[in-house]
Amino acid sequence: MAESLFSELVELCRLLESTNSRLKKVQLIANYLKRLSPVDGKTASYLLIGRLSEEKDGSPLNVGWKIIMKALKSGKNLSLLSAPLTINDVWSSLKLISQIQGQGSMKKKLAVLESLFSRCSKDELEWLLRILSGEMRHGVNVGLLLDAVAAISGIDDHAVRRFDMIIGDVGELVRLALSKQLSGRIGIRIFNPVRPMLAEMCYDVQDALDKHGGLSSFEPKYDGVRLQIHKQGSEIRLFTRRLSDVTKNMPDIIDVLKRSINAFSAILDSEVIAVDTSGKALPFQDTLRRVTRERDVEEVIKRVPLKIWIFDALMVDGEVIIDRPYLERRKLLESIVDKEVLTPFIMSDNKTVVEDFFNKVIAQGHEGIMAKDLRSPYTPGRRGTTWLKIKSAENLDLVIIAAEWGHGRRKRWLSNYHLAVRDEETGRYLMVGKTFKGLTDKEFEAMTNRLLSLKTSAQEWGVIVKPFVVVEVSYNEIQKSPHYESGYALRFARIVRIRDDKSPDEVSTYQRLKILYEKQFEKKGKFTEYATSNYGGL
Ligand code: AMP
Repeated sequence: MAESLFSELVELCRLLESTNSRLKKVQLIANYLKRLSPVDGKTASYLLIGRLSEEKDGSPLNVGWKIIMKALKSGKNLSLLSAPLTINDVWSSLKLISQIQGQGSMKKKLAVLESLFSRCSKDELEWLLRILSGEMRHGVNVGLLLDAVAAISGIDDHAVRRFDMIIGDVGELVRLALSKQLSGRIGIRIFNPVRPMLAEMCYDVQDALDKHGGLSSFEPKYDGVRLQIHKQGSEIRLFTRRLSDVTKNMPDIIDVLKRSINAFSAILDSEVIAVDTSGKALPFQDTLRRVTRERDVEEVIKRVPLKIWIFDALMVDGEVIIDRPYLERRKLLESIVDKEVLTPFIMSDNKTVVEDFFNKVIAQGHEGIMAKDLRSPYTPGRRGTTWLKIKSAENLDLVIIAAEWGHGRRKRWLSNYHLAVRDEETGRYLMVGKTFKGLTDKEFEAMTNRLLSLKTSAQEWGVIVKPFVVVEVSYNEIQKSPHYESGYALRFARIVRIRDDKSPDEVSTYQRLKILYEKQFEKKGKFTEYATSNYGGL
């Protein structure tokens, strides 16, 4: 099969942009992908959704808009002289750019970009720039690609989504579909992480009991980092919720797990938190820093110990148990892990008993509790009402889409951040407010550098950036607002923390925002109370 041309992808993008019909978009994508080799299909899928790297956690290329503009200025056009650009050419160049580091790296990146741009026709250049900025504006998201996978493979939507949960990478799914390898044999395998099951927010204990049929199980909700544990014999590996392998950063946790899991093979779900020397939970940022730390691990283990809490089992001794009810999985878990690492658990139908449990957990410094339906299967990657989180106040996870230069002391920093939710239906990011509150000076400085590397255009007031950095934001009220495209604005928004563990497509949705807006009217008194007690009357 001949290598696929970039111009064909561009042609597809133009057609996608000109149709609003979801069905038509799916057909166009499926027909296009069917003509490609499996490897090109994988690459084309990434490019179609503006993903620039194969690494799931892959950071962007770290080339600011300035370098891109500079490369454009060179204005060389060799498109008629050189061989037509293939998808693979574009992908290899992006890969090369992401790997360039150290002294003179900007110059080298500029050279690669210049050479790539010089080979583009006008149309190709336009779409390449859209890919680089992540603003494709042709209405294609992962969901649409999954529908295309269903169309290519003849497998129904539901099964494709299940494969997606297990494989966790839409490009890889396209590759498997094109090579006719997508079949019932694909299952959960040791050392191949699956996407973790997610929880939905609920209002309070009564709400959770109602949603779970009057009886439910409750556990502390730890404010840490999700870890999927894979064990086979004496080998143990740990994966984050974005499926990165972080095993080597946590030899202390591996030691604990080696002595506390009593099964030959297992896939378990857990949360890890950093604790102080007296065992009290430390803030989330400390956990994140510790878990992602790759250098001098031995030294930091002594200073910032970790504590792991296991709460579910997906596979035990070769048998996949995700379809069994939670209560059964929990019993099995209790029989194979030591109490030291087992998440505390109560089962109750009594609101007062659960509220008591909630208060105790909060007093221990944790975030809230999780309510889990005892009858529910483990659904990888899915957010549903079978797992509900009950927190004392709900924050939103928002993505930064632009930033303004500060004034006075903050003059050199990008310090007022434009925040957005994600519209689940269109995949677009909609602005809901701005804030310059919540970061330390050091964080402002680091954030400024980070945002500059994500810049897609410069304005007099600041920069527009590729939606990438996720922040958790508290607020005291959601108001209707004509100023923002979303139609809503957060009052007194404040960054609680930077959520490097979340990707932009995991931010709070526009749909959730609307529900929260309505909820305020039911429980207005409560909201005001939270606002004054937690945020000093902001
Ligand atoms: P959130 O990050 O706010 O969407 O909340 C869901 C996250 O809570 C999960 O992804 C886990 O990382 C974390 N978590 C903490 N404790 C538990 C628990 N007992 N069961 C499940 N998830 C938990």
